[in-house]
Amino acid sequence: MDIRSNVEKIKEKIKKAAEKVGRNPEEIILLAASKTQPPEKIIQAYEAGIRYFGENRVQEGMKKIDQLKDKLPEAHWHLIGGLQTNKAKYAVRYFELIHSLDRKELADELNKRAKKIGKIQDVLIEVNIGEEESKYGVKPDQLEELFKYALEKENLKILGLMCIPPYFEDKEKSRPYFKKLREMKNLLEEKYKKTLPHLSMGMSHDFDVAIEEGATIVRIGTAIFGERNV
Ligand SMILES: *Cc1c(COP(=O)(O)O)cnc(C)c1O
Repeated sequence: MDIRSNVEKIKEKIKKAAEKVGRNPEEIILLAASKTQPPEKIIQAYEAGIRYFGENRVQEGMKKIDQLKDKLPEAHWHLIGGLQTNKAKYAVRYFELIHSLDRKELADELNKRAKKIGKIQDVLIEVNIGEEESKYGVKPDQLEELFKYALEKENLKILGLMCIPPYFEDKEKSRPYFKKLREMKNLLEEKYKKTLPHLSMGMSHDFDVAIEEGATIVRIGTAIFGERNV
């Protein structure tokens, strides 16, 4: 398993998927989902050209960021996992973009903590697009209300939407969910006259389909690093 060649293959696949639908591959961010990966592997991914890293857990992310920030000066760190309200204060200190805003209480807390340190915190709203019990994310029918609520928060900036659709062996089955997320984003943009530049969707097994449906950030773990040891 060679991280460099994995990254090359993924970039090639991103390019193909983008060109298939007439998009510019340069506008798609390849984010390495680095949960459970040790610093050495993250450094290898950086050396292979990755500049965006997504961690799932605040504590694990903080530790890695502290260890790596001098070594990886151009790395951007995102929080992609669900966020507990009591960790919001650490999340705003450490992460450039939080992909998992999914409730008002969390919007309040992120806003308050960002204000305290004089930051405008970039966020995505995570939508539980398959309405699964086990998943984080706001329910689709409550998205608009949360969006309006977060829009009023001075120290939050909403950059778009994120989703993790139900898992299917057949990646084509993810397509309707990706499409639905794109349509939700378009509706909000039109109705509220806001530009939402990002759709964070697509993982190792379905990122090409997500790109065809408009993803601007793909979050890829195993296809870069190999299977995770848990
Ligand atoms: C782990 C993870 C990914 C990447 O999953 P892979 O299937 O390993 O590519 C993407 N997004 C989130 C939120 C994750 O937790």
